[in-house]
Amino acid sequence: MAIERTLSIIKPDATTRNLTGKINAKFEDAGLRIVAQKRIQLTKAQAGEFYKVHAERPFYDELTTFMASAPVVVQVLEGESAIAKNREVMGATNPADAAPGTIRAEFAESVGENSVHGSDAPETAKEEIAYFFSGLELVG
Ligand code: UDP
Ligand code: MG
Repeated sequence: MAIERTLSIIKPDATTRNLTGKINAKFEDAGLRIVAQKRIQLTKAQAGEFYKVHAERPFYDELTTFMASAPVVVQVLEGESAIAKNREVMGATNPADAAPGTIRAEFAESVGENSVHGSDAPETAKEEIAYFFSGLELVG
């Protein structure tokens, strides 16, 4: 076990429904600390670069259009095993499969509009944090 940092995004379906506070309460209650945070609106090109690993998937165009459709909150969560813990609190990608009490079970609208993003491994966490934040913006 180690203290890790992971990238979290509160997606447009959640920011537009005023769910930022309720979602972040779940992270904080799970012991994750928000050590950097900003509300931004992505262009489709910026969303496309962020999700480029999925460029060949059939949902890529819809996903990047959705991510650019309204503001998102990008944030860095820190804590013990933060990468796995964040994904546990988020729940499964498809809300129909998400465990009760998870963010996606409670708030997601569909497999695409599923309220939150979370990094899936140490290497991607590092890359995704660097995509949105400089070292000076990680304030602890
Ligand atoms: N997604 C989608 N349809 C799918 C699978 C994924 O629209 O069949 C979207 C969804 O918003 C998901 C994102 O693409 O969160 C990235 O997919 P991934 O498999 O990485 O899921 P995650 O890591 O977000 O749980
Ligand atoms: Mg993923």
